[in-house]
Amino acid sequence: MEKNIFQRIIDREIPATIEYEDDEIIAIRDIAPSAPIHVLIIPKRAITSINSTDESDVETIGRVFLVARDLAKSFGISESGYRVVTNINSDGGQTVPHLHFHLLGGQPLGRMNSTHASGHGTGSPYRGTLREAGILILCAIGLAIGFNMMNSKSISWVKKEYDKVTATSNDLNKYLTSPANSPSTTTPSTPTTPNTAVPVESEDSKKTDPATTAAAKPAPVQEKPSFVAEPGVVKEITYDQFSRLMASAPYYLIDARGAEKYAEGHIGNATNFYGAEAQARIPDMLANVPRDRVILIYCDGGECELSHHVADVLKQFGYGPIFIFTGGWAEWKTKH
Ligand code: 5GP
Repeated sequence: MEKNIFQRIIDREIPATIEYEDDEIIAIRDIAPSAPIHVLIIPKRAITSINSTDESDVETIGRVFLVARDLAKSFGISESGYRVVTNINSDGGQTVPHLHFHLLGGQPLGRMNSTHASGHGTGSPYRGTLREAGILILCAIGLAIGFNMMNSKSISWVKKEYDKVTATSNDLNKYLTSPANSPSTTTPSTPTTPNTAVPVESEDSKKTDPATTAAAKPAPVQEKPSFVAEPGVVKEITYDQFSRLMASAPYYLIDARGAEKYAEGHIGNATNFYGAEAQARIPDMLANVPRDRVILIYCDGGECELSHHVADVLKQFGYGPIFIFTGGWAEWKTKH
């Protein structure tokens, strides 16, 4: 029988951000969080859901709640409050057939209202109108769900705020290598070359960054590789920084725009990886791209929501450093 995704994470076949682990339980960050804190607490034994538990699971399931308690404390949400839930089968909304408990918190989660609707109203004159409004809202939600199910470019339900950090020249220098040493490549299967960092100066960084100005003197070539993968690091870069990375670091380039825009034109050998589809396509990517590869992402430019979405998903799989070229296709086009 094919392993489910959580079994593969437990067996270390697929990466995840692990928050807790012992012999019986693992707790990982949810890949598509529904709240600022969203951790999945998973008993390692292959139990499909609460339906398949028996007396021998009592202790493990009891311990799940102690793990939830301790994680909530470590995330600082014990006092503000949180929720621990498990979904069972289709009406319960279970998508992964391996028993797991969602620990959610970090924002008010609202009440878990009953969906029971009283059909026969008396009294309030507004009840009929409210019911009609409710039906309209349900229709709209139904249409949106339908659209999301039918359409690969699904609408995200909640607009996520991303941390936007700008890369400094120092950040970049760690990944710049001499071109002779390590040719740029976007071929996923190429193993990552150990890099020898040679700080590279550019016109703009000479003006703005004293650290790089210091590097204007002949830089001592380091004998040992200085490349250190930085899982989870996502930083925004300028056109100049993007060009420097492309010229001298092994990288994997992602175009996070839709397929039509990509087909009209894209940068170099970029792989098209539409933002909203990132989660579904991540296993393909993982199969080919070394985890310590520098990832460069761009979209149309500006807010870069699509790029940040892709970066966020890659980050959860342990990729990094990830650089987002904020000028995107719009700026690239004007310069090429
Ligand atoms: P369920 O819907 O079964 O109650 O919850 C399954 C959860 O697993 C969902 O919240 C989903 O986002 C999360 N999930 C699905 N695939 C992965 C994965 O590959 N990694 C991680 N960390 N979470 C996942």
